[in-house]
Amino acid sequence: MSKQHLVAVVGAGPAGIYGTRKLVEARHRVVLLNRDIKPGGLAEYGIFVDKEKMKTGLRKQFKKILADPKVFYLGHVTVGQNQALTLDEFKTMGFGAIVVAAGAQGTKKLGIEGEDCVGVYHAKDVVYHFNSLPPFSERNFEIGRRVAIIGMGNVMVDIANWLLNHKKIDQVVVVARRGPLEKAYDDSEFEVIERYLDNADMKQEIDRIAPQLSAVGQNVEEITKKFVKAGEPAEGRRLTFRYLCSPTKVIANSQNRVAALEAEENEMVLQDGRTVAKGTGKMRRIDVDCVIYAIGDQVDASLGLPYSRGAFVTNPEKLPGDPNPAAYQPYDPETKRVLDGIFVAGWSRNASVGLVGVAKQDAERGMKVVNEYLSSKEGLPSGEMEARIEALIDGLKKKGVSVVTKEDIELLESAEHEEARARKTWDFKYTSDQKMLEVIAARKATR
Ligand SMILES: Cc1cc2nc3c(=O)[nH]c(=O)nc-3n(C[C@H](O)[C@H](O)[C@H](O)COP(=O)(O)OP(=O)(O)OC[C@H]3O[C@@H](n4cnc5c(N)ncnc54)[C@H](O)[C@@H]3O)c2cc1C
Repeated sequence: MSKQHLVAVVGAGPAGIYGTRKLVEARHRVVLLNRDIKPGGLAEYGIFVDKEKMKTGLRKQFKKILADPKVFYLGHVTVGQNQALTLDEFKTMGFGAIVVAAGAQGTKKLGIEGEDCVGVYHAKDVVYHFNSLPPFSERNFEIGRRVAIIGMGNVMVDIANWLLNHKKIDQVVVVARRGPLEKAYDDSEFEVIERYLDNADMKQEIDRIAPQLSAVGQNVEEITKKFVKAGEPAEGRRLTFRYLCSPTKVIANSQNRVAALEAEENEMVLQDGRTVAKGTGKMRRIDVDCVIYAIGDQVDASLGLPYSRGAFVTNPEKLPGDPNPAAYQPYDPETKRVLDGIFVAGWSRNASVGLVGVAKQDAERGMKVVNEYLSSKEGLPSGEMEARIEALIDGLKKKGVSVVTKEDIELLESAEHEEARARKTWDFKYTSDQKMLEVIAARKATR
């Protein structure tokens, strides 16, 4: 009995690509479908633009995995309801398993008044914009000179880095529900924006919230020593923090553009040993002309898996095994059954959690579950697999999808490298799908 299977992996970010490696190691063939033309996901389009060593290293690893003849990369193909392919269509195509590793493409809102006005953005859209991912790369973001970033994680740092070091705006105001010690960013990441910190303002802010910090047993003196440094903000650009503030309203001007952010001041209380923000009813106004939500993402419900509150629903049972297989199995709460043959991994399983290494580890554990599942099923002969892949590509082409293969990606990348060399930069990316497709077609024509 043949044990080799055809597996569809949806999403060629770190989870999809490292997961693919585990599947081909088990001698399965993988059709890797990716919404973006280029592979890499947030490693390509999220990790900050100047992290050359990290980006180049990851690209090399991804290239090596994709080069395996058992991997069929199909870029520029979106899977989901009303898209090029639905998950239901897949089920009829002879795939032994389908792995959804499409990241967390949905955006979270706060649900406050005014958040639909011009100048309110989601961090991921902004990050995609400055990392040159179409169509965000082509979209106009009305940034202005003073920007509030809501949230205090590493994504906030990346956005502040872009705003202060690249866009050279006047001020970034970080708005956080809790206090300085509850920051989620890493100090090593923060270094790129530290020189803009308005230390006098930080001192004032810590003095303002000192009673609330003391109330939960935090040492104000130590916090001041840790967070207030010497010196003026570099080049007159300021980075300030407004702690213990929960946004309640975006105040728009007469052109429906951001004029200010209204926030409720909080106190902190201890709950099960951790600090929790609690509104005081006292409002404050923060004058800004742009608001960026850096509060994490949620999965994309339109993929067509059972969905609840920003996440795909997975099997609630604790099944025996390490890793726990249930955690990777989408689950229909109505029928109380797992979706046979479908799995989730990476940020599609656990949105906005962890660095590339975490997504990699999650995918590797998940593929152990998938390989185990496949080992009990009859596989497909190799000729049959090829016929099914061809039928899939033909079907996509008939639907008018310009499918991009890994050979196409090589042509595109060679053109981008040449352009980068000509511009004397380490990296260059074409910023529209149309341009990328044209470049690929032109290179093919001259071969
Ligand atoms: C702003 C930012 C900065 C970061 N910086 C770092 C860093 O410096 N270092 C680090 O280690 N980690 C960093 N991370 C974390 C890291 O990027 C993630 O851990 C990792 O990329 C998650 O991998 P993933 O494959 O689950 O999802 P993603 O990387 O999001 O990949 C998802 C893939 O799925 C595809 N896709 C989406 N929807 C569909 C669909 N419907 N059909 C087909 N394909 C689809 C997308 O095109 C994409 O290629 C950063 C994250 C962010 C948001």
